[in-house]
Amino acid sequence: MKSATNPSRRDMLKLAGIAGIAIASIPVTAFAAKNAGLRTSMKYKETPEGDKECSNCVQFVPGKTPKDLGGCKLFLGDTEVNPKGYCVAWAKKP
Ligand code: SF4
Repeated sequence: MKSATNPSRRDMLKLAGIAGIAIASIPVTAFAAKNAGLRTSMKYKETPEGDKECSNCVQFVPGKTPKDLGGCKLFLGDTEVNPKGYCVAWAKKP
């Protein structure tokens, strides 16, 4: 016997479907994030320092294309690292 507080399998599948649609409709940019604390402490800037830039740093995690924003292995959760950016932790990519 089904009670009001014990949802049926059909109810659960309906909820899962609604949740799936809701998640699928969230734009990818909603997950973009900056690690403000580390950016400040590492003196991150959006411009290169001479020929030193994120795109040629060993810590850089490239985006979809060479010009897209990417990540940094040091800036946890940061998805908006500019390939033309720079910080004091720069280390030449081998
Ligand atoms: S360590 Fe600094 S220079 Fe290197 S990718 Fe990360 S933010 Fe850019």
